[in-house]
Formats: sequence, structure tokens, C-alpha cells
Amino acid sequence: MDHHQYDIAIIGLGNAGSQLLLAMINHPEFENHKILVLDDFKGDSLDKTWSFWEKETGKWDHLLSNEWKLGNFRTGKVDLDFDMSPYSYKKLKSHDVIAFAKAKLLNHPNYTLVESRANQVIENDNYATIVTESGSFETKLVLDSRIPKAFFEDTQSIKLQQHFLGWVIKTESEAFDPFRFVMMDYRLRDPGTTSFIYILPYSKTEALVEFTYFSSDLVAQEVYETYLKTYLKEYLKLDSYEITATEQGNIPMSTYRFEQHHTSLVHKIGTAGGWVKPSTGYSFKRSEKFVDQLLKNYLADKTLSDGMFSKKFRLYDDIMLDVLKNHNGRGHLLFQNLYKNNPISRIFSFLDEETTFLEELKIMLPLTSMPFIKGFFKKLF
Ligand SMILES: Cc1cc2nc3c(=O)[nH]c(=O)nc-3n(C[C@H](O)[C@H](O)[C@H](O)COP(=O)(O)OP(=O)(O)OC[C@H]3O[C@@H](n4cnc5c(N)ncnc54)[C@H](O)[C@@H]3O)c2cc1C
Repeated sequence: MDHHQYDIAIIGLGNAGSQLLLAMINHPEFENHKILVLDDFKGDSLDKTWSFWEKETGKWDHLLSNEWKLGNFRTGKVDLDFDMSPYSYKKLKSHDVIAFAKAKLLNHPNYTLVESRANQVIENDNYATIVTESGSFETKLVLDSRIPKAFFEDTQSIKLQQHFLGWVIKTESEAFDPFRFVMMDYRLRDPGTTSFIYILPYSKTEALVEFTYFSSDLVAQEVYETYLKTYLKEYLKLDSYEITATEQGNIPMSTYRFEQHHTSLVHKIGTAGGWVKPSTGYSFKRSEKFVDQLLKNYLADKTLSDGMFSKKFRLYDDIMLDVLKNHNGRGHLLFQNLYKNNPISRIFSFLDEETTFLEELKIMLPLTSMPFIKGFFKKLF
């Protein structure tokens, strides 16, 4: 009996799974591979906004629902408007990306979608068996977006959460600049935490307004709601508005080394593979890079995670998380320093892990002048 029914099985058609699938479908060398995709689509029914910055045109432009060329960063002390050129800030709807990937998959003769949950993955000598309610499937390789339980149980790594509640609101009067998104507005904060408002304006009278924390613990629903109401009333001077949709999330920001869970048969992807940038919680654009690297490694018969994680940038991420964890009430000062002393293009490039050491020094040196941060940089200098 041929045990290898499939060459590759992807567990989870979310961000990482869809991007992987689309990249494989577009790659001639995967034309004859037999690919299985498993997702019951029950895990996360919310339509998420997947936003990211990108230089000029990109491969997702045909699916974009919004794009901004101007941005703002604000605290009680600074009000920084920036032109992001050559970058722009782009927004996709997760449902659009997944529906696009699903449609391509259903049209491909060698690719199969099974709408079921992977309940168990059994690793045999040279193939894995995935057990689902729709039967068992054998595959030579599993690309697995299930987050390992060990991550939640681990007490050694730094674990912050990017948790937020957002409202899409419609207003009668004009309240937003539709050309300028707000990356962070720290004028309203939950004391003792790194917390801020994020705004994606869709028109002069419609926007997604989110109250976001980078902190260890979640808060009660009423807390997010109270801050949102306060911001809309006191900062945007809005007395009446209609909430047309909500968006809520909790993204891990952690020093946990997810790649310890890779085996020769099961490779973790997405959040489960450490694809979320630990210091920002962004993962969409980073996943695009990691997907390219993973497929290159696969075709070259290399370890699949080769070249994905830079030691240097990991250290920067670890330091950022350490500072945020230990001085959570002062995160706004760290970000204020970052945005005040650097052009936005340098910040984006740094977060994309594309800066030179000289550019990194320009970012770090002003930060080291802040007494509460200084000690953390001893690891670097
Ligand atoms: C509201 C919200 C807004 C966000 N906005 C942004 C943003 O603007 N920019 C950004 O970069 N990131 C954003 N994120 C974070 C981003 O969504 C995640 O980092 C990203 O989705 C992680 O990708 P993933 O593939 O690991 O997981 P997911 O995208 O969650 O996909 C996992 C998939 O696996 C499936 N699955 C899970 N277990 C099983 C199983 N046992 N069997 C079969 N299938 C299974 C699930 O159903 C799901 O479809 C946001 C998150 C939320 C919640």
C-alpha cells in the first residue's frame, strides 16, 4: 500500500496556509505535487483586517480594500504626520484572501480541500498520518498552523499579548481624514500599560477605531469599550455615531522559540512557527517572506526554516519585549522616541529586518539615552 497519499498537507487555511497554498499553486515545481488542505473554518469566523506596509506595488494589490500613503503618530507631547513614500499602508480583509485561495485550490486537479479539523497527527517513520472526522490522510510532510500547547504552558519566555477591541463607526458629521491612518495615538492610555488608539479611516465619516494593548494581561470587555467611548467623545468630539462592525483580537508577542516544535515530518507555520514579528504583532507581510523562504528550502532539500530567523533581529525583538514587559507603563515613551527620531521609512525597514547596522545604530542610540531602557541595551554593546 502506498502510504504517501499526499506530498504535503497544510493544516489551516488562514494567513500562513493561504499564502503558502497560493505560492505553491503559482510555482511550476509544485504543479504535480499532491497537496491536501485541512480546515474546518470554525476556529475563527471573524473577518479580520490584515494590514501591512509595503513599498510601491505588491502581489496583493488586486485584493486590497484600502490603502493609505499618509500616517500619524501621536502622544500628549508629539503630533507627527508622515508621508510614507515609497511605502504605503495597505489593508486586506482576511475573508477575501482566504476566499481567493480557496477558489484557486478548488480549481486545481492535484489539490484537495477537506473541511475538517485535524484532531491528531501521528508521526511514522517517513510519513505522517493526520486523523480527522472525515478520515485519516497520509502525507510525506505536514505544514501545521496549530499552536502547540507547550507555548501556553511555558513560563520561561516573555509573553505579551497584543489585545484589542475595534469598532467600525459611521458618523453624521465629518470626523476623519480618509487619506491618513493613525498608527498609534497614546494621548489616551490605560495607566500602567502600553495602550493606544489605532485608526483606519475609510471615508470622512467612517473608520475602524481600535483600543489596543501591548501587555501581559487581558482586560474586561467594558474596559476596551470605555476607552473607545472616551476617545470618540473627548478626542474626536463625537456625540453620536453608529457602530456597524466590531473587531477583536489577541496576538501573541513572545520570545518563545516556536521552531523547537519542528520535526522532519511536521513543520509549524504561521503563529505556530514564530512567523508573527514578536515586537509588533504584525505577521501578514512577514508570512509572505517566510513562505518564499520555506518553498525555496523545500525545493533545495534544505531544513525548511533555514534563513528565516536573523540572530541580530531576534535580539532586538527580545530587548523590545523585555523593555515593554518590565516598563509596561512607559511603552509610549519608547515609541515616541522611535517615531520622533527616525523617518518612517527607516522604522518600516527596521521592522522588516532590512536595515544596515548603521541604520540600526541611528535607531538605538537615541533609545539608549532613556534611563529606563539603557540597561536593556547592555546585551548589545
Ligand atoms: C482581529 C484581528 C486583526 C488582525 N490584524 C492584523 C493586521 O492588521 N496585520 C497583521 O499582520 N496581522 C493581523 N492580525 C494577526 C493575524 O491575523 C495573525 O497573526 C495571523 O492570522 C496568524 O496566521 P496563522 O496562519 O498562524 O493563523 P490563522 O490566520 O488564525 O489561521 C489558522 C487557521 O487554522 C485553522 N485551524 C486551527 N486548528 C485547526 C485544526 N486542528 N485543524 C484544521 N484547521 C485548523 C483555523 O480554522 C484557521 O483558519 C490580526 C488578528 C486579529 C485577530
